[in-house]
Amino acid sequence: MSFDDLGLSAELLRAVAEQGYSEPTPIQQRAVPLILAGRDVLAAAQTGTGKTAGFTLPILQSLQDELQQAGVQDGAGDAHRGRRRRRVPQPRVLVLCPTRELALQVEASVETYGRHLPFRSTVIFGGVGINPQIDRLRRGVDIVVATPGRLLDHLGRGTVDLSRIETLVLDEADRMLDMGFIHDIRKVLALVPETDERQTLLFSATFSREIRELANRLLDRPESIEVARCDATAGSIAQVVHPVDKARKRELLSHMIGSRNWRQVLVFTRTKHGANRLAKQLDRDGLSATAIHGNKSQGARTRALAAFKSGEVRVLVATDIAARGLDIDQLPHVVNFELPNVAEDYVHRIGRTGRAGNEGEAM
Ligand code: AMP
Repeated sequence: MSFDDLGLSAELLRAVAEQGYSEPTPIQQRAVPLILAGRDVLAAAQTGTGKTAGFTLPILQSLQDELQQAGVQDGAGDAHRGRRRRRVPQPRVLVLCPTRELALQVEASVETYGRHLPFRSTVIFGGVGINPQIDRLRRGVDIVVATPGRLLDHLGRGTVDLSRIETLVLDEADRMLDMGFIHDIRKVLALVPETDERQTLLFSATFSREIRELANRLLDRPESIEVARCDATAGSIAQVVHPVDKARKRELLSHMIGSRNWRQVLVFTRTKHGANRLAKQLDRDGLSATAIHGNKSQGARTRALAAFKSGEVRVLVATDIAARGLDIDQLPHVVNFELPNVAEDYVHRIGRTGRAGNEGEAM
């Protein structure tokens, strides 16, 4: 199947071609037509499957169809129309994400795939000043990507109005529940149109009883899609174990990175403190390293990720929550310096490598 068969506009196909994608991933093949047909979707898909484009592309397509139906010939999406400026902004698409990093990445995808379309999007998350977000919202917005807590802040202040939401996406719903967002999610749900008046898409890597309950309440006769088995790891990842005394783990890690000349390694520790300590020790061993975890400011996290992506920093030491949703293209090595407590986290950790057809190695 090719992207041309999915029913996407020339503008979207152009954006996809510019990304260099040759064919849609399995989740894109299944999700795009269903979402375009207006169906609610319950999708079992991990990061790395191309799920973000799987929902972003058809959502943009639907907005474009509406725009054409409304007979607006050129220039503007809903956000651009003058009447929006005076009122509280009323976006039509809301994507809820568990972490700032994932929210940033989803919004970047919206920008990327929507670059030839007139729609406006913005990202909302906590830990940074609220005023720039308010200004951005006031200028008009069609698509909001948000973490639940800060979105509620905005709702409390009346700086955004969700009563016109047409499509609601819950991305990495399992992680949102793990992070205790259920109450925040319920409050947000009370402010969007009813189930039968909106389209709802729920993505989750795993399907616990809680997720199924949430899905039952939120989705209207959903189509289920499953592209990779829930707790199975991707086949393109080689998984290697090195037995070593605890006290010598760091030494072995430094040795492997140095002797094998690994240029980009993501290392997981269990605690924030452990991440800081290991990053310092690796740095002392002459391997440029930085830590990323929940105690760091948003600015520090964004800078650390940028330095890692650009190759300026060789080793990124992360905790599970901070690493959630990190999208680093073609990351070759993931190291579990300490094992996670639950199998799911292991699957997510090593899912950073071997993405979208690339080979990877997990230690
Ligand atoms: P996601 O699962 O949405 O986090 O996407 C994982 C990675 O796959 C991202 O780096 C995307 O840019 C990439 N990707 C998405 N769709 C495709 C495609 N059709 N072909 C190749 N790579 C893709």
